[in-house]
Amino acid sequence: MSDTAALADAIEKARTRYPELKVAHGAYYRNGRREVPWEEATKQPITAACVVGFAMLGGFTGSWSVTSEPILCPAGCGSIAAVIHLNDDHHWSPERIVAWLRDAGG
Ligand SMILES: [Zn+2]
Repeated sequence: MSDTAALADAIEKARTRYPELKVAHGAYYRNGRREVPWEEATKQPITAACVVGFAMLGGFTGSWSVTSEPILCPAGCGSIAAVIHLNDDHHWSPERIVAWLRDAGG
């Protein structure tokens, strides 16, 4: 299985396993600074996760490079595509990101 497929599978697995978790979009990091102090965030129960958080909860340990060559953002902003970019900057849902990962070869 490619890392892209493993990443998509891990996100789906965590979404199924933790249906109570809300989807976060850049909630803790924005413009290079933390909005919630790390010490505070780690004391609080987990109530939300970004796409990277869901991937980690789903056990993903592979490469975050979705494709062998950089590709442009599918949302058309001109940036290089990355799951965290789609999550934080375009507020794509985990399911939409999974669909894009499957199209990209996963
Ligand atoms: Zn973009």
